[in-house]
Amino acid sequence: MSVMVPSKTPAQITPGRQALDTALYQLGQAADHLGLGDGLRTMLGTPRRSLTVSVPVRRADGHMDVVQGYRVQHNVSRGPAKGGLRFHPGTDIHQVTALAMGMTWKCALADIPYGGAKGGVAVDPATLDIRELERLTRRYVNEILPMMGPDNDIPSPDVGTDERTMAWILDAYSVNAGHALPGVVTSAAPGDSPGQAGATSRGVQIAALSALGRSPEGATVAVQGFGKVGALTAQYLADAGCKVVAVSDLSGAVYAPGGLDLAGLRAWVAESGHVLGYRHADALGHDELFELDVDVLVPAALEGAITEVNAPRVRARLVVEGANGPTTPEADEILTANGTTVVPDILANAGGVIVSYLEWVQIMQAYSWSVEQAERRMRDLMVSTYAEVGTLAARRGLTLRQAAHVIAVGRVAEAHQTRALLP
Ligand code: NAD
Repeated sequence: MSVMVPSKTPAQITPGRQALDTALYQLGQAADHLGLGDGLRTMLGTPRRSLTVSVPVRRADGHMDVVQGYRVQHNVSRGPAKGGLRFHPGTDIHQVTALAMGMTWKCALADIPYGGAKGGVAVDPATLDIRELERLTRRYVNEILPMMGPDNDIPSPDVGTDERTMAWILDAYSVNAGHALPGVVTSAAPGDSPGQAGATSRGVQIAALSALGRSPEGATVAVQGFGKVGALTAQYLADAGCKVVAVSDLSGAVYAPGGLDLAGLRAWVAESGHVLGYRHADALGHDELFELDVDVLVPAALEGAITEVNAPRVRARLVVEGANGPTTPEADEILTANGTTVVPDILANAGGVIVSYLEWVQIMQAYSWSVEQAERRMRDLMVSTYAEVGTLAARRGLTLRQAAHVIAVGRVAEAHQTRALLP
């Protein structure tokens, strides 16, 4: 199947397919700018390996469910495939392919020697107890085993998965190999470098502060998604002096014009499971969060959050993409026309994969650095990558997203050409 064919009929246009169309559009723009030929475009728009598996999971009451799982390696020309594993009911092969493609560009942009991958299981983890989740994870590993390995494909957490999921994967893979292979995942508990989501949030903070171009003191922020990435991004931006006035999750949004007490909100979420109902803030609808007059808007939930429908009402001067693929191409154009700067996902949320890479390097060398060393390297790489993207954007009159893709796609294209993978 070639993924270069855009979807045509409404029935084919699932959220996953839209995410893939967005990814292909962004690749197409970069390929035009770089003057890439048709062969290379097709190669870069097509995943190297895609696997769809059926994962049986025995439920606590004894009955068997079968769910669909996926692992896609989009590109492995610059190194082993690297990418998160998502447990979410809306996951499909198109979404996983789009996210794998994004990982290729993200790793290339930060110039770390990885290709891009992603995995997913179409399941709502909230409907499974912990033993069911463990059985599901281990069975998924068995099904995708031929694609995995510290030199082949290295998963990390994403939506609906965490350090515990990675620990199960590490154990399942190692049991199969007959010896411990810690480099098969990153961000497995316990004792690794700071969690990947924490590093992602730290990177979003660094990107946001770089783009803000002024003192963060009092800059107002709204964050969509109060999960692993969103909650810590809010905290890190508040730590830097920003005023986080609104956050949302699936339940709705909460708003406090004077700034949210984030520790109090986290305690409420730990108790109730959602942000709505937090006593020290007003309730808002999901969409109202996007319409707030804030300096920085951080989408940190899922793909396709900012569309041509709500983009005209976005008043933030800066959109910093904590999530992968939260802005559609149509929304991108509207935001740009309205003077909003968008810091794209492959730049803004790269802190997680950078720290994952640094963790993997240490595992493969069996030699540990201090946490401070790893954090410093990540910060340096985020700052220099941001500067490189900003410079190219200014020089060529591109948006930050276009410039980031031109650099990233150019590096992957060069790897193909260097290895003579093309006529
Ligand atoms: P998560 O599951 O921990 O959190 C997701 C949050 O989004 C939850 O609070 C959920 O309630 C909320 N949400 C979902 N739909 C929403 C909606 N329509 N409106 C408002 N909130 C909604 O996931 P995460 O790991 O924090 O990942 C979030 C995003 O960041 C994803 O796009 C993911 O691919 C990306 N990302 C994650 C990592 C990581 O290390 N976890 C790294 C890079 C990028």
